[in-house]
Amino acid sequence: MQNIIDRFISYVKIDTQSDPNSNTTPSTEKQWNLANKLAEELKAIGMEDVSIDENAYVMATLPSNLDREVPTIGFISHFDTSPDFSGTNVNPQIIENYDGNDIILNEEKNIILSPNYFSDLKQYKGQTLITTDGNTLLGADDKAGITEIVTAMEYLINNAHIHHGPVRVAFTPDEEIGRGAHKFDVKKFGAQWAYTMDGSQIGELEYENFNAASVKIKVQGKSVHPGYAKGKMINAVIIANEFLSLMPKKEMPQFTSYREGFFHFYDFKGDVEYAEINGIIRDHDRDKFDARKELLQRVVFDLTERFGDIISIEIKDQYYNMKEKIEPVMHIVDIAEQAMKDLEIEPLIKPIRGGTDGSQLSYMGLPCPNIFAGGHNFHGRYEYVPVESMKRATDVIVKIIELTAKYYNDEA
Ligand SMILES: [Zn+2]
Repeated sequence: MQNIIDRFISYVKIDTQSDPNSNTTPSTEKQWNLANKLAEELKAIGMEDVSIDENAYVMATLPSNLDREVPTIGFISHFDTSPDFSGTNVNPQIIENYDGNDIILNEEKNIILSPNYFSDLKQYKGQTLITTDGNTLLGADDKAGITEIVTAMEYLINNAHIHHGPVRVAFTPDEEIGRGAHKFDVKKFGAQWAYTMDGSQIGELEYENFNAASVKIKVQGKSVHPGYAKGKMINAVIIANEFLSLMPKKEMPQFTSYREGFFHFYDFKGDVEYAEINGIIRDHDRDKFDARKELLQRVVFDLTERFGDIISIEIKDQYYNMKEKIEPVMHIVDIAEQAMKDLEIEPLIKPIRGGTDGSQLSYMGLPCPNIFAGGHNFHGRYEYVPVESMKRATDVIVKIIELTAKYYNDEA
């Protein structure tokens, strides 16, 4: 496992924070530092067709060692880290044989990673954990995924007796700002299907995510001296508030879980003259997603009837549930599930309450479920990863590749 630890640490020490306010790809210049290193490393371990394009997307091939046709499959991770928390001078701490008690991340600042608060920690008693020093995030999201993919490729190259078809790997920038898939060249990648190694705890396997849209409500009021406003003033704040009061009270993030969708209004600003509400719609079910959009349109229509043509709504689709694209090729999930079972890992299949790059890639023609990479508490100072989980994820990659060769052998 030492090679996994060393490899992971060599990645997290490179700051690759992305920036939502930048329009370039990659969004930050510093992401090149890891992209270039990864390209070099893939060449060094013996991967073929190693390429890095003008947007820093790194791709490489592990050629088939069979003389029959086996589908090309892919594995994908992102090398940027979240803009929500500093990724500068990451100083990983290695806790061997974790005793199940509080972990002092930073004595000086009294920052403690406690199983009383983060109960997931308890399942890793006796394992080796990698944590932060309390000042930065760790970057296991998603450098754990990269570590696992590179290590699995190295293992297959060094163990040529394991039969496998062609495997493509890709490392992408800017996932954390929702742009990881935007410039992904699906055609060049050339895989029939792929997996993002970008989930959290051991066993996670995901092929359902939200359908997602953004919503903007604008209210144009009319400001008049309040002393002489009768019959003249239109108060945009009051009408915008009326809109919010007509929203279903229980269908909001704080009241929903699992497969329940919601409306979420996260920004409200305004004065008498003009008010604006920004929000999002989320639902796994496409019909319910559409019904939510219709409800908003109807409320706006009713308000227009009552107050005149002063309120407008703009709804923009953001991404869709990959399930629609995965279900017709369900064997790609079955193979991953089988791989975990063969390795005595209990598969945790559950809908994602968010989106992944895989959902966008699935709609771009590359069906792409998501598999655990092992880390916890992403995007903050409490992020940690058990080394055993990274090892197990590496095993899952190898097993999926083996099963794909075997499955398509049986079919032939
Ligand atoms: Zn991620």
